[in-house]
Amino acid sequence: MTQPLIDPFARPISYLRVSVTDRCDFRCVYCMSENMTFLPKKELLTLEELDRMCSTFIGLGVEKLRITGGEPLVRKGIMTFFNAMTRHLDSGALKELTLTTNGSQLVRFADDLYAAGVRRVNISLDTLDEKKFADITRWGRLPQVLKGIEAAKKAGLRVKINVVALKGFNEDELFSITEWCKAEDMDLTFIEVMPMGDIGNEDRLDQYWPLKDLRNTLAERYTLAELSHRTGGPARYVRLEETGQQIGFITPLTHNFCESCNRVRLTCTGELFMCLGQEDNADLRAALRDSPDSNTPLEEAIRAAIALKPKGHDFDYDRQSVAGKMTRHMSHTGG
Ligand code: SAM
Ligand code: SF4
Repeated sequence: MTQPLIDPFARPISYLRVSVTDRCDFRCVYCMSENMTFLPKKELLTLEELDRMCSTFIGLGVEKLRITGGEPLVRKGIMTFFNAMTRHLDSGALKELTLTTNGSQLVRFADDLYAAGVRRVNISLDTLDEKKFADITRWGRLPQVLKGIEAAKKAGLRVKINVVALKGFNEDELFSITEWCKAEDMDLTFIEVMPMGDIGNEDRLDQYWPLKDLRNTLAERYTLAELSHRTGGPARYVRLEETGQQIGFITPLTHNFCESCNRVRLTCTGELFMCLGQEDNADLRAALRDSPDSNTPLEEAIRAAIALKPKGHDFDYDRQSVAGKMTRHMSHTGG
């Protein structure tokens, strides 16, 4: 039997997040600048290469794949890739195939995603106000995303709404978004804003709304019961006793999750990032392209990379400056 992937801190690696494109049909202010230069197409892994790459990871014990980007559903032919992954769900090697999307293309793709075996989607949405939505995403339109959410639910997909907590922007919508998710039977997770990439004029410290403050506000109206289950990622969960809702908090800036980290991230160019908050990466594309007839060099490159997975990250807002700031964009590594 193949040895599973275990990193130097005895953490089994069972979860791969894959960015399939750096492009997007939105320009969220905390994620991208308005004038982004995207990678030339030849730099990207082809759909066949993505299949080979993911299948190799699955062969090494990865059980969960999350497809992200950029906006994964703007990648041309992306359903070919999802459909190719169905064989791993059918064989039982892959336990879950999911994606994170801005929702803009779900009217078109929801049924096909369900047919490919996707059962859950994370949809990013930071405000329920049309004007604010257009402001924060620059190019996005709220009604289109709301239609996408409807289509996803209708197709049978379980929806989780991801909200980036932004000071002075959606603080006043904390309760309305929570109530909306309850009414629509959707899960809800808040994400602390992270210092990723050059985003132009926005100031990171101005945007930073610590989730502990958000939690305290939530606790003014609801009784929060701490839940113990963890997913190996940066999310912690509470249950609102009054409504039974489960709410997630992703606080990547706090060192509260690295010890159980089970994941690595593959960029759309085939670099493997062992930690979201570290620059260390391995070029798996070279291993893949140099050896079209054998996956052995790729497997060796993956094992060598996992052997270098660091213990944790260096993000820190504490000293009124953004330390550990990453130069790459979230859309490159995949959020
Ligand atoms: N385009 C898809 C979407 O928006 O869901 C997938 C890619 S996006 C980079 C993945 C997630 O990262 C989204 O939920 C987005 O809100 C979040 N994100 C982007 N930039 C971020 C930042 N600087 N800090 C925290 N979360 C961020
Ligand atoms: Fe696009 Fe997602 Fe980044 Fe927004 S957060 S610009 S939707 S990749």
